[in-house]
Amino acid sequence: MKTTDAFAGLDCVDCGASFDAAAEYHTCPDCDGLLDATYDYDAIDLDRETLAARPFDSLWRYEELLPFTRESAVTTNEGATALVDCPDLADELGVERLLIKDEGRNPTGSTTDRGQSVALTAASQHGASDVALATTGNGGQAAAAYAGRAGLESHSYVPSRSSFSNKAMINVHGGDMNVVGGRYDDAVGAFEEGLAENEDWYSVQSFVTPYRHEGAKTTLYEIVEGLEWDVPDVVVYPTGVGVGLVGAYKAATELRELGLIEDLPGLYAAQADGCAPIVDAFENDRDEHEPVETPDTICGEIEISDPPASGRVLEALRETDGGAVATEDRDILEAAVQVAQHEGLEMAPSPAAAASGVWELAERGEFDGSETVVIVNTASGNKEGDVLRSHLMSQGV
Ligand SMILES: [Zn+2]
Repeated sequence: MKTTDAFAGLDCVDCGASFDAAAEYHTCPDCDGLLDATYDYDAIDLDRETLAARPFDSLWRYEELLPFTRESAVTTNEGATALVDCPDLADELGVERLLIKDEGRNPTGSTTDRGQSVALTAASQHGASDVALATTGNGGQAAAAYAGRAGLESHSYVPSRSSFSNKAMINVHGGDMNVVGGRYDDAVGAFEEGLAENEDWYSVQSFVTPYRHEGAKTTLYEIVEGLEWDVPDVVVYPTGVGVGLVGAYKAATELRELGLIEDLPGLYAAQADGCAPIVDAFENDRDEHEPVETPDTICGEIEISDPPASGRVLEALRETDGGAVATEDRDILEAAVQVAQHEGLEMAPSPAAAASGVWELAERGEFDGSETVVIVNTASGNKEGDVLRSHLMSQGV
């Protein structure tokens, strides 16, 4: 395997056992816990000047902090997305500075490209022939794209409610797609049956492969570097499974470990009222979520009623003195429209939960005016322009 010098292997976050990354691909063979990539940070010599001298061209510019070499990467130059100042929104919300990290500019229009680039690199290094996952949509499109690039087959299980553009593009990338009636949990059930029947399939499911949050962590590196190492006070992630937040927490602690920053940003989870297990657990001081019985939100990408690693997501919020906020679908769609009309940026409905969440935090009086706030726009508005347009129709436009 073409691993980087400091990459030490995989540790189980539950039982603490360590494994060779060439031997273990997925969850812990001892306890089925989640595996996490570990590094010898003392062996990493990375300073602000070194990074500033590198082109801002791909997440692989942080190669030392990734498991695999850039040369071996399955990449379409994902990452290196824009961090856009939104002064009018900052004024309206009463904060010093508000920025949107526009992950919609990734190759397939969503932040999942980061994780799939690293996960498909791992699959390729492990000699996989087929990758498979259950996905609300964006992750499947990205898996199909990167599998195509790596010369592997992909098998995506998507719920019937997944957006047309994701389904269409999974096909366009040559991926095998299984549309499962119902919601995300139904897709997971069908995917698990598929995995059981096909022993050669390699899972690129979030928190089954250790590598999706490893790719996702680079978003936070870019945010902090983009702010010239001035750590933002608040970073709000639209949250379904929570890969982005777990990655962000890891990234922040790594930057601190390397002496590049001192403070951690406050990490916030934003969900939709109709499916907010993380927010509910946070507000009730629980260490784990309770599954949502009847999820119901227009935000299909984050409609995850039973997130597999809620303990880690909640840890990220609490250890950074962050928070959690849920808002109603109507407010979320309106937030996407307001951002589009006043800042020119296109947010899909699910990431607009983060924008709506920031409005809600402002209304609750959580800001004193001195904050720098970053909203992570995880997917392009183009992916679900029809849903956003329908919201205008409901307003009589
Ligand atoms: Zn274990």
